[in-house]
Amino acid sequence: MKTREDKSLTYQQFYFDLLADIVNSVEDVEQLFQFAIEQLKQFIDAPYGAIYVYHRRVQQFRLMHFQADNALFLPLEMVERNTHYDEAMVLQHVPLDHEVNIIPLKSIDGVEILFVLSVSQNRQPFTEEEKGIFVKETEKFLSIIIPLVNNKQDNLNHEFLYELSASLFAKNAQKEILTEIVDALNIRYPNYSFSLLLSQDSDAGCLPIKMIQYSDEQAESKSTLAFLTGELQIELQIEENVANIYAPLVGNQAIYGVLQIITPISTYLSRKSLEFLTEFANLAGIAIERITLYQNSKEQVSSLSFVNEFSRRLNSNLEIDEITKLVKNEIVNLCHASEVGFVYLNHENETEYNVLAESTAYFNTDAGSQFITFLMEKIKSDGELLFSGNFASNPDSPYHSVMAVPINHVEDTNGLAVILHEDKYFFTFENFKLIQALIQHTSLAITNTLLRERLERTIITDYLTGLYSRNYLEESIETSFKTDERGVLLLFDVDNFKQVNDNYGHHVGDEVIIQVADVMRQYVSIEDGHVPARWGGEELSIYLPNARIEEGMEIATIIRERVMATSKPNVTISCGVSTWEQGDQDTTINLFLRTDKALYRAKRLGKNRVEKN
Ligand code: GH3
Ligand code: MG
Ligand code: MG
Repeated sequence: MKTREDKSLTYQQFYFDLLADIVNSVEDVEQLFQFAIEQLKQFIDAPYGAIYVYHRRVQQFRLMHFQADNALFLPLEMVERNTHYDEAMVLQHVPLDHEVNIIPLKSIDGVEILFVLSVSQNRQPFTEEEKGIFVKETEKFLSIIIPLVNNKQDNLNHEFLYELSASLFAKNAQKEILTEIVDALNIRYPNYSFSLLLSQDSDAGCLPIKMIQYSDEQAESKSTLAFLTGELQIELQIEENVANIYAPLVGNQAIYGVLQIITPISTYLSRKSLEFLTEFANLAGIAIERITLYQNSKEQVSSLSFVNEFSRRLNSNLEIDEITKLVKNEIVNLCHASEVGFVYLNHENETEYNVLAESTAYFNTDAGSQFITFLMEKIKSDGELLFSGNFASNPDSPYHSVMAVPINHVEDTNGLAVILHEDKYFFTFENFKLIQALIQHTSLAITNTLLRERLERTIITDYLTGLYSRNYLEESIETSFKTDERGVLLLFDVDNFKQVNDNYGHHVGDEVIIQVADVMRQYVSIEDGHVPARWGGEELSIYLPNARIEEGMEIATIIRERVMATSKPNVTISCGVSTWEQGDQDTTINLFLRTDKALYRAKRLGKNRVEKN
């Protein structure tokens, strides 16, 4: 018979050997117990050995490993924690010829276990004394090895996360980052299935990625809870025999979704492994946040420079049609709209509106104008903007995607830009924001140009020179074509005027234009119906109704000479002269073109001269 000391020593020896054996190879607690039970079974000569671990979530011991020589020894999956255990609590078919020892150990580093060992009849009986030694030595062994294994696990986890973070931070596209995260999960949990539930739309491809759903019915669900609280949640689905782990993807500024891991319900989720998952999900959250912010800022910078570039082009004094054309082209480029329209309130009658040229054809149809009236009403009653991917209107329109942005001047809404597409949910919110910025910048240009054009139409004198406006000149010639026999048009252009501006500045340039206008005024006769006008810029013009070409040449020459003699700073002018006669089937346009050609020839032939055509 062995003494108690001998027994202790053999157990000590056994555990010492086991420790030396496995200390380098074992990676986690699960593996440790698998090894331990195998070795113990041989050492104790036990035909049956099982190990249970206490699961705090279910408050039960769950079977982790068992080894049995006889297929009849079938363990129960779970055991309630108790002060006293019997065979029926751990085995389905209790073998009659074996004594079953059920041995709980104290909790070690958060791990609480229950051994079930039956001892062969061929050896000495497993006495209370031996049981005591077993408990003591096993606890001693475990309190050395479990912290070691946990530590090792910690190091492995840190290494894993460190490598993952290095590779995540080397990636600059969302897709690559998500792929990296999924690959890491596959390596780490080859036997579990998982998905990423993301809060934003993403390019998932074939990755296990879903949009997170949060409707009212799901408000209570663990995934929603994880998303809202930012804390890891575990959900047991007893019928399906699975445990779902939901680890929120927490960044520094927001939560970007939830990582769902589906494990068999018996999986032992140690505190360590849950801590690891939390850290993993945090790392993923930060990586997703980084790429999201990066993409947002890239988009913002590019929209900003786009809008800047666009308003720069708008500033170059365009005509209204040119502005709307520019805006329309940009909008079509941006969002592939099928219809783009600009409508503007009629200033004489505020209930009417005009469809600006360059709007697409639909807006000039009956259906289009009804649709616009409908939109106008809606925008007036609801306020500002309209962005819809599933727009129901009365009357029915074939366009489901609708963006409408008011064209405002100061506080007033003067008009509306309407952008349409047949497909539902065709435009993105990014499209909408950019177009809104575009229209804001365009509003001022459109309003100014419309005002200027309206003003030009109503004003007959040019503000700088006091001469007639070009508009008035054109109307006078139109009338003359209808009522007179003939007429002569003179077109003056200051020679090398750019140099005047460059040398003396714009203000002096303006003075020179005024001087030329004053000279013109001296030699025209208002009684004869002469119309001295500002053609535009430094180009001035005189129309002589009922005059012949000789009279025109004479007046042009006198004016040219006087300007040369009197202007300060000294400038010269060139002049083109042309005429029309009743019966020539002539048009005002042709008269303008001929006169312009004559002026061009005067320039080409050396300037400071008068040429006729
Ligand atoms: P050219 O002899 O060929 O006519 O040479 P130019 O330098 O006069 O050339 P051009 O007629 O093409 O250029 C006219 C310049 O006059 C361009 C513009 O900067 C300037 N200009 C146009 N309108 C005004 C104006 O109202 N005031 C001032 N100060 N400058 C003007
Ligand atoms: Mg000119
Ligand atoms: Mg000139």
